[in-house]
Amino acid sequence: MEGYCLKCRQKREMKNDQETTTAKGLRMVKGQCSICSTNMSKILGK
Ligand SMILES: [Zn+2]
Repeated sequence: MEGYCLKCRQKREMKNDQETTTAKGLRMVKGQCSICSTNMSKILGK
């Protein structure tokens, strides 16, 4: 899973990614940047 890292300001591979669903029913992936381990998330949509 690829996501945008706010710290690297680049797209990075996400590690420990886990899919969750928000209160509004949107699918989301949470994980950490494989480079700097900053928490990152990505919204997958409905
Ligand atoms: Zn990063």
